[in-house]
Amino acid sequence: MDFKQFIRVIPDFPKPGIRFKDITTLLKNGEAYRAAIEAMKQAVEDKRIDLVAGPEARGFVVGAPLALALGVGFVPIRKSGKLPGETVEASYDLEYGKDMLAMHKDAIRPGQRVLIADDLLATGGTISTTIKLVRQLGGEVVGAAFLIELGYLNGRDKLTDIDVFSLVTY
Ligand code: IMP
Repeated sequence: MDFKQFIRVIPDFPKPGIRFKDITTLLKNGEAYRAAIEAMKQAVEDKRIDLVAGPEARGFVVGAPLALALGVGFVPIRKSGKLPGETVEASYDLEYGKDMLAMHKDAIRPGQRVLIADDLLATGGTISTTIKLVRQLGGEVVGAAFLIELGYLNGRDKLTDIDVFSLVTY
């Protein structure tokens, strides 16, 4: 399937010069959404994955169905202050300032094989932070899977020690 035809590109969002990749147009098409998750599943299913972890919010939309398709559990990675139990946290740089991501301390047992999933790989900052958290809990990061990769931002260069899969590259 040509997935690009279902992704809408919106110029100048959230600010002038950015060409925003909008996946809502893919998600609302049941056939395209299912085919996208199925293609991601096929790309990673030989990795003996124990858990899929994804950062809020669009990482849930990709990661949770991918976990179900693989027959494994899903671990949410959230902004600081949202998870009710004990957490580990790591900060990451945004264009202006910093933000924190958090995971429950008991979300992963040492040695579990974790795939990280998100909608889009841009500079790789978000995914590097999630990798740090998973490793802090003793998880083994076996790869990262994305619907979209913005190849021109070279996020993949930050992820040299894991396998990176993306369905569509711009
Ligand atoms: P990174 O940390 O620079 O790799 O940015 C990745 C994060 O930014 C992902 O979680 C995306 O949800 C979000 N993001 C950046 N650019 C876009 C876009 O064009 N469309 C949708 N999400 C984006």
